[in-house]
Amino acid sequence: MSQQPMSRESIEKKPRTRDADTVVASVCPYCAVGCSQLVYVKDRRIIDVEGNPESPINEGTLCPKGAATYRYLVNPNRVTSVRYRAPYSDHWEERPLDWAMDRIAQRIKETRDASFVERTPDGKLANQTTAIATLGGATMDIEENYLIKKLFSGGLGVVSIENQARI
Ligand code: SF4
Repeated sequence: MSQQPMSRESIEKKPRTRDADTVVASVCPYCAVGCSQLVYVKDRRIIDVEGNPESPINEGTLCPKGAATYRYLVNPNRVTSVRYRAPYSDHWEERPLDWAMDRIAQRIKETRDASFVERTPDGKLANQTTAIATLGGATMDIEENYLIKKLFSGGLGVVSIENQARI
């Protein structure tokens, strides 16, 4: 076979997914269309996310948002701390994420304890609080939404549970 007129760069080109040792089927985290994705993993680290050609929903394609999922997961600019402004303060402070999680849990417990209604005035079982609400975002996946519903509705008795991706 005669030699092909290809540059070294062309010959050495390879797909980003070639080095993966594991491929896991998943669902795009962004919207309710529910496109299927393939997550490529090497040494337990994600190296790429692509559309799943086996899916009858998206047949291997992803919209620009879904196609950018890899950079949502693996991004050196990802924020890992929180900004906190204390009541009456005029400036923001940087705090660790663990501190914020503890504080949120503490505030939820205080609010629930103060507002929980076990029975309505006419004696009907209510087991609810209307003083807490949750608003989910489109980047939450199925498992997270399942846990939110289980924790807030069944666990804490929160009535108002909403998600921006309810299209
Ligand atoms: S955001 Fe795009 S890729 Fe993701 S589920 Fe929706 S349409 Fe599909």
